[in-house]
Amino acid sequence: MLETTRCFGTAFTQAERCKKRLTGLIPPAVESLDLQVQRCLHRIDSLKQSPLEQYAYLDRIRTESSNLFYKLVMGNLKQIVSIIYTPTVGLACQEFSRIYTPASAPGLFLSLADQENLDLVISNWPGADPDICVMTDGSRILGLGDLGVNGMGIPIGKLSLYVAAGGFNPSKTLPITLDLGTNNPKHLNDPFYLGTRSHRPRDSQFYEFVDAVMAALKRRWPKLLVQFEDFSSEHAFGTLERYRNKYFMFNDDIQGTGAVILSGFINALKLSGTPLKQHRILFFGAGSAGVGVASQLMDHFTHAEGGLTKAQAKKLFWLIDSKGIVTSDRSDASRYPSHKKLFLREDMGGKQVGTLLEAIEHVKPTALIGLSSVGGAFDAAVLTRMGELNQAPIVFPLSNPLTNAECTFEDAVKHTQGRVLFASGTAFPGQEHPVTKQILEPGQGNNMYIFPALGFGASLAKATKVTDHMVYQCAVSLSKQLNEEETALGFLYPRIERIREISGLLARDVILAAVEEGVATEPFVTNLNLLEGSNESRQKKAAALLQWIEHNMYTPSYQFKL
Ligand code: NAD
Repeated sequence: MLETTRCFGTAFTQAERCKKRLTGLIPPAVESLDLQVQRCLHRIDSLKQSPLEQYAYLDRIRTESSNLFYKLVMGNLKQIVSIIYTPTVGLACQEFSRIYTPASAPGLFLSLADQENLDLVISNWPGADPDICVMTDGSRILGLGDLGVNGMGIPIGKLSLYVAAGGFNPSKTLPITLDLGTNNPKHLNDPFYLGTRSHRPRDSQFYEFVDAVMAALKRRWPKLLVQFEDFSSEHAFGTLERYRNKYFMFNDDIQGTGAVILSGFINALKLSGTPLKQHRILFFGAGSAGVGVASQLMDHFTHAEGGLTKAQAKKLFWLIDSKGIVTSDRSDASRYPSHKKLFLREDMGGKQVGTLLEAIEHVKPTALIGLSSVGGAFDAAVLTRMGELNQAPIVFPLSNPLTNAECTFEDAVKHTQGRVLFASGTAFPGQEHPVTKQILEPGQGNNMYIFPALGFGASLAKATKVTDHMVYQCAVSLSKQLNEEETALGFLYPRIERIREISGLLARDVILAAVEEGVATEPFVTNLNLLEGSNESRQKKAAALLQWIEHNMYTPSYQFKL
């Protein structure tokens, strides 16, 4: 993102101010970054009645002083991420066209009308050559639907997390919003709407345009990693299939979500005590997240020690959508989008289930995963039945935001007498165990554990593509990062405050996977010959790799440059 040259922090010493002819332009006090962070926190607190004001304030800090902004984010991760990303970013996107102020470019807007001139428009980007871009078409922003170009808040917010959690240099990040119109009448009729006022094009035109964008980006920046974000389900799967082997890209809604849930699931499997092959997994919701997670879990069932064949593993999965269990003989089976077809049940004999409880009776699941956005769907009866069927039921209500969560942690603990193995999409407070009175902490399947490290590792390795093996190893690596205390407490995920340390380790394992797949091209990495030599020498090389990764991670600090 852009650094403005007109912003002067208060960290300059008097001597530096003299040299740079800044004396008189900055208030006289010379301050440390820490003190400036304290001022920001004070201001954020004073704006607590208006999350949108907090967002706007932080957005200004981000564009004016990236060192201050990232010092603030990294030292106060949970609080600040809730403003610059979910949940407040949702509000900021809804209001984007109304709160927009003419400022430095927030990112690149690529419009359908520019299709013939994409090279020129892309070359207008005034920032440094980017390493990573997050790209959306605004068609399915969070759970808020089609917001058109108002979705720009998402690439901006997500890239802040790539920097804070992963270590990308902020000046080498690029938010992109594809302006393909919107089907949302509210925006089409809003005089302030900042995008093209037309309906979205048909599929062929959509793909023709995105093909042209991907080709133009590659011409301009051949090593740029493109992360697709918040496209409608069909296009999320369609673009992933179309570009995964041709371009350096991945889709966080599908692959990142799949990986983070797999990681928590691996730890839940260990704690459940049930052998791998005896698990039966019921998905409530079969959209991009549901199918993405199911695919990633299936990968684990085939890769893990003593794993299954693909056909055997498939038999352990049942997916439910709004019309029932996804089967090969449902009346609408011919109209299933292709991603759903991966998980067709062939054994229902034309029968269907009416309710989730009936599905539970039919499947007898060991794990129930919610990705439906149907708030409260895992009610008392559902949770009680899961508790009756399993000593340690795995229940992951992953839908966001809070109102869409299939159940709360409180209810899951209550109806399973504290035996539940739980992870959610939204953060829930801890609960007292009904018997032992110990405080139980819920897991949160936050994609932020995965995408910054996956992206950073892939980008540092200058991989030619992001392979399934890299995504899978990133998930497995995360599952191994619990420290002693977290393991003793039965956590499924490490504490989010440790994200930086964890991201380095995950990035290392992503790079190792890239080397195993033969897609890493960065000479430092390839020259290490990471896969050769004795165990001891490979470990030494992996340690050198980690050191190199940490050295390359951006850290906010005050540096005076003449
Ligand atoms: P989507 O719209 O593509 O899919 C929703 C699915 O739920 C569809 O298959 C739909 O048929 C099904 N569904 C809707 N109503 C239903 C009902 N009454 N009964 C059964 N099934 C029903 O959405 P998505 O992108 O797959 O996201 C789903 C949810 O997952 C969202 O709430 C999103 O916030 C959440 N999510 C969480 C994470 C995370 O925790 N890390 C990551 C990504 C998405």
